[in-house]
Amino acid sequence: MKDVIIVGGGPAGLVAALYAGRAQLDALMIEKQFQGGQMVTTNEVENYPGFVDITGSDLANIMYEHARKFGGTMEYKEVLDIQIDGEIKKVITDTEIYEAKVVILSMGAKPRKLGVEKEEELGGRGVSYCATCDGGFFRNKIVAVVGGGDTAVEDALHLSRIAEKVYLISRRDTLKANKVAQEKLFKTNNVEIIWDSIVTKLYGDNKLEQIQVTNNNTNKIVELEMNGLFVAVGSNPSTELVKDLVDLDKNGYIIAGEDCKTSIDGIFAIGDIRTKSVRQVLTAASDGAVSIYEAEKYLINH
Ligand code: NAP
Repeated sequence: MKDVIIVGGGPAGLVAALYAGRAQLDALMIEKQFQGGQMVTTNEVENYPGFVDITGSDLANIMYEHARKFGGTMEYKEVLDIQIDGEIKKVITDTEIYEAKVVILSMGAKPRKLGVEKEEELGGRGVSYCATCDGGFFRNKIVAVVGGGDTAVEDALHLSRIAEKVYLISRRDTLKANKVAQEKLFKTNNVEIIWDSIVTKLYGDNKLEQIQVTNNNTNKIVELEMNGLFVAVGSNPSTELVKDLVDLDKNGYIIAGEDCKTSIDGIFAIGDIRTKSVRQVLTAASDGAVSIYEAEKYLINH
């Protein structure tokens, strides 16, 4: 029986693995794909203290090595179910069943879709949800980014260094992204912002060829030839696995406060997956630390 199982290896999970290692708990972090979570899709992280400018994947690798150095253990497999048997938590993976006294949920969130026809069909054929992963395919091409948050603006800046022309399509007349990034964007010559507009149609058979953009105020339609469309319209929490286990809010986030406690004793939720006002690498990392302190308290009392 493990003391702690951490499900998900984004920044929250990696920091929990580090703190668990340093606390000499018998802990295991289980990750489905690769460490770092959504952070690895960020090209420049400029707001994680101690690093003026670092790529998300480099920061993920440093966090991973840091956790390993202090005894954090990780395995790469898919968690299929989590069950409760009295005070014992069973974590069922594709290859093994683990038992733990404490489970820490850190499965993060995944990119939200636009919901337009052909989006699915053209996925990987011009439509992408990760500019840092797929941007390189669009050297000297025409691309568009949809969204107005930090991700969209950072993606547009990243793509402006690769593509010939970048459109940023925002459904409002302002951007939500931080002001420093906005300033950089406004000064970038090959970026054109299309305000108050949404993407309403995608065209192309084997690959994206054209998009239709509709102005929300005037209903005016513009058709643009397009090689790549990068969707950056936020994310949805990855709570499918635990939707019948712990209480979720109306948007699907696990209800948990700053102490990371969920509706089930001994199950904690950390990072982007829980209800919180600021979802950043820094706040996810903070949750990772807090959850291990709370887990230790739980273990002493049980
Ligand atoms: P976000 O902040 O939720 O922004 C999503 C954007 O997409 C909003 O502008 C939203 O418009 C728009 N949108 C939503 N649905 C849309 C649709 N169907 N069509 C068109 N536009 C749509 O998401 P995010 O940018 O991914 O950021 C998520 C969190 O990660 C934030 O807390 C952000 O600060 C953080 N983050 C930080 C960094 C960094 O610090 N380096 C980098 C990336 C992300 P409305 O405003 O109208 O809803």
